Amino acid sequence: MLVMNETLLKAKILTHGIHFTHNALNEAKLHNAKFQNLVYNIPQGADNFRPQELLITHEDGYKTVVSCVAPHKTQPIIIDCIKHKLIANVHGKILKDISIDFVQQPQYYTYNLKSGKNIKNYISSCGLDELNIIPWKGCAISKACLFCGSNNVALKNPYNSLTAVNISKSQYWEKNKNDYLNNLREAIYLAKNDSCFEEHMHVIIISGNVRNEQLDQQAIIYSEIANAINTLIANKTTEGIVAVLMPPNNLGYIHTMYTSGIKNFVFNFEVSNHDLFQKYCPGKSEIGYNHIMNALEKAVSVSGRNNSWTNFVLGLEPIDNLLKFNELLAKKGIVSSANVLHLDTGNRLDCELPSYEEVIHYFYSLSEIYKINKQNPFYCSKALRTSLTNEAFERRIRL
Ligand code: SF4
Repeated sequence: MLVMNETLLKAKILTHGIHFTHNALNEAKLHNAKFQNLVYNIPQGADNFRPQELLITHEDGYKTVVSCVAPHKTQPIIIDCIKHKLIANVHGKILKDISIDFVQQPQYYTYNLKSGKNIKNYISSCGLDELNIIPWKGCAISKACLFCGSNNVALKNPYNSLTAVNISKSQYWEKNKNDYLNNLREAIYLAKNDSCFEEHMHVIIISGNVRNEQLDQQAIIYSEIANAINTLIANKTTEGIVAVLMPPNNLGYIHTMYTSGIKNFVFNFEVSNHDLFQKYCPGKSEIGYNHIMNALEKAVSVSGRNNSWTNFVLGLEPIDNLLKFNELLAKKGIVSSANVLHLDTGNRLDCELPSYEEVIHYFYSLSEIYKINKQNPFYCSKALRTSLTNEAFERRIRL
């Protein structure tokens, strides 16, 4: 398998983690690197002084962004800095043909809203050009997924702030929504001309979930958010508004979300194997494996083939079985992808991270499934930080 050096480095970082030298961390501060946001999850080893992402550019011009995963037990990749130039030491070998830069903090992070609220309470950036709208912190699903630490973030917020638990309370959203939507609109207005969105913008509404029995209410809130921002972002987005959530109990609300401006629906399975799904995602399992499948099929009928997406965590189950499931979904017009498992603070996992070889094999095979079924990967290589779907699809991994 031929793997181009920027993709090789990304895959090595995702499977081994990064150790930054003192010089590299100093350089990060000098270059206004974006440091860990810690708004949705807290990757293990992350703190406010650790860079969030690297931009890797091949000398042929191809660019990709990778998450600065914390070092694992196996030999981490060392990112050093010599004469203000970042270099990657991969198991004793310095990688050539590439340049490495820190993804910089967007300018808009320093802006204040008229209300005095911090703009990052409403929006943040992942990778180079994702605009994430995270309406509330934490997750109130009946039982949290074992790999997820989103409630560790929620616990750091004031008790009366926008959290999944508060949103699940009667009238909380109704009382707070005007304030929230006004602040959100202002935040997007200030951010949308930032240089990080010069080329395009991927607008994603994503959060943990409200209580299982209130998922219809969650779909309504997502629709209200989409309605409020639709015209603001229309000329910037590549795929319209993307919504990542557990499906509503009444699948009719998928149509409500669609008419509000949500064009891509992401109902994440995380695990394809039934028994492992029950084990690793006990709350999702109570919502129902079949319900997620029905919702993905419904999204195809509402929004069209390939606008219904689902994601998996690569490392929770045997890869070849997952690929068979990816193929089955593709035939139904559902696009699937995976993020390489990384460990968040608060996870309760018992499995090993996948190896470099497994990761390369998986994404190469998935790209073949895309091609046969005329599908495209999610977003772009500068947005998707923990997946190689774009790189494999763009032939940066070849036989
Ligand atoms: S549904 Fe699972 S993965 Fe999603 S936020 Fe809740 S606990 Fe985390």
